[in-house]
Amino acid sequence: MKNYKSLEAILQKVVICKNCDLCKTRKNSVPGAGNQNADIVFVGEAPGKSEDLRGKPFVGTAGKKLDEALENSGLTRDQVYITNIVKCRPPKNRIPNEKEKIMCSDYLENELSIINPKIICLMGNTAYGSILNGKCVSKNHGKIIGKDKRVYFISYHPAATIYNPKLGKIFKSDIKKLAKIIQKDELNG
Ligand code: URA
Ligand code: SF4
Repeated sequence: MKNYKSLEAILQKVVICKNCDLCKTRKNSVPGAGNQNADIVFVGEAPGKSEDLRGKPFVGTAGKKLDEALENSGLTRDQVYITNIVKCRPPKNRIPNEKEKIMCSDYLENELSIINPKIICLMGNTAYGSILNGKCVSKNHGKIIGKDKRVYFISYHPAATIYNPKLGKIFKSDIKKLAKIIQKDELNG
């Protein structure tokens, strides 16, 4: 695995990266963004249209849902760090394929080892599947899972809540639970 010394070094590489074919169709790569010392890192799937245009994660409709859930739980964007499994938009927002996920994985691995958060929130089946080999967020959301010295929290992808108010409520209550875990420092550390 390639090692990066800082989040800035990762960002510099991501913006010019041509490791996979998504570089051919993107307008902008979308590096992770947020607090270097975050207790919580949120991991989504891949940039969408708004993110591709602006080069920033979760700035479109899904991002608004994430913001609402953060605000509802007393968290702010500058307290946390937000990133994706792949850093470039797949055409027509298709799910990133195995090759793209593998070619992009060193960036996420380095983001996580540099930040070393208390907990990593995997949002949706792409993040859950890629990192924990998990399959069904609807059965596993709200769970805390430890693996390889890291602690994960499972929830829905905020995009899944856009036309589904019921999931929206569940997502918000998951994120509130996550914020409480950190505030109470239930993870001892
Ligand atoms: N969906 C994602 O998974 N990531 C983003 O950055 C935006 C939408
Ligand atoms: Fe590089 Fe990842 Fe973008 Fe592929 S998706 S070009 S590996 S930054």
